[in-house]
Amino acid sequence: MPDRTMDQFQYRDRTLFCEDVPVTELAKRYGTPLYVYSQAALLEKLNEVQTAFAAAKPIVCYSVKANGNLSIARLMGQHGAGFDVTSEGEFRRALAAGPAGAKVVFAGVGKTDAEIEFALRNGVFLFDVESEQELHTIATIAHKIGVTAPVALRVNPDLPPKTHVKTDTSVKGVKFGLDIETIVDVAKTVVNNPGVAIVGLHMHLGSPILKADPYRMGAEKGLNLIKQFRAQGHDIRYLNMGGGFGINYRKDEAKPASAFAEAILPALKESGCQLILEPGRFIVGNSAILLSRVLFTKSTGGKHYVIQDAAMNDLIRPTLYGSFHRIWPVTPAANVPETPDVNGDPDDPHPFRDMPNCFKQDVVGPVCESGDYLAKDRPLPGVTRGDLLAVFSAGAYGMTMASNYNSRPRAAEVLVTGRTHRLIRRRETFADLVACEQDCLS
Ligand SMILES: *Cc1c(COP(=O)(O)O)cnc(C)c1O
Repeated sequence: MPDRTMDQFQYRDRTLFCEDVPVTELAKRYGTPLYVYSQAALLEKLNEVQTAFAAAKPIVCYSVKANGNLSIARLMGQHGAGFDVTSEGEFRRALAAGPAGAKVVFAGVGKTDAEIEFALRNGVFLFDVESEQELHTIATIAHKIGVTAPVALRVNPDLPPKTHVKTDTSVKGVKFGLDIETIVDVAKTVVNNPGVAIVGLHMHLGSPILKADPYRMGAEKGLNLIKQFRAQGHDIRYLNMGGGFGINYRKDEAKPASAFAEAILPALKESGCQLILEPGRFIVGNSAILLSRVLFTKSTGGKHYVIQDAAMNDLIRPTLYGSFHRIWPVTPAANVPETPDVNGDPDDPHPFRDMPNCFKQDVVGPVCESGDYLAKDRPLPGVTRGDLLAVFSAGAYGMTMASNYNSRPRAAEVLVTGRTHRLIRRRETFADLVACEQDCLS
């Protein structure tokens, strides 16, 4: 069976290709570590969401937080997406990349006064409001500059745990949203306030979510709240179900967009609202690999290490969340499988089976932390200095969470389409690293 996890990244005669480009060519041209994106993959996944929800004519707001590269954001805007942002910086990315008039929704628990004013002056489509103080602050600022702020109240729908504790945003006790028990009281406080118009209800359940059921439960709870807001006199027109759709990091553990549509659409229809979605990971996650080069190998303390030139500063998900990314040589030898055969069960502690000529290795980077690893105890073939490795499913929360820790310049990013490729972010230099300090030297 063909490997469908990352359709646009396939081995041909034992060399990994991105679309029609051998990634060996990209490593040679742009160096490593390197993020390699497939334009076809990006557009396929955006289209999958648009198609699955087509009956509802949704406003699909690409979540800039997942990957804010201007070229990627521009591609999203060109193909009909609006944007979901969580800061003025992301808002500015959306403005810089998007077509004029692109719809921007602004979420986040800690918007500053300056950010609120910036959003109002730049035509924010909706604020996703996360506290009573924020609601009244937005009203005050909007009133001061003579506008009415369009807002959706973000509810914490208090659902059972559904993903990693650090990224589950809809269980009791997290900082996000308004409590479902009191959100109706909060809405009441602005019924006649000229500074805000509550026109929507928002929720973002967490990420990544591998089941559709939480969306069904969330939408049903949302419908009930919408009825109560309307009874107060609020003209509710939008139901924003957020993002969080999971992807295949291993093999086929994720749901297609149609499963989420099936879960959300019945309650949506009953509400009569326009649907807004904020997918990030689902669109960009499997559009990219992180390409790295093996520096050294060593065996110590009974363990085998592959030391390669990508580190936790390039891709922090394994360190931060214990996340799993498939890793495989770019040019696997003839005596090993051409692709990693990973079991589809995300809870399987032994995800690899029948991997001839492989042995367990830790894939680590150069950063001075024991937590700097991309994989632990991973069955991999032996590799040697200079070999290229592909870290799969690296498009979401990869580059966007990259840092300069250990004074490592951030990686370059390349976008492939068909047989062509171009840089969409140049590799950082030492001058970039010290740019904010240089002028401060006394
Ligand atoms: C992060 C975030 C998203 C996107 O989540 P994905 O898992 O990348 O789809 C959407 N909405 C809000 C409010 C977010 O914070």
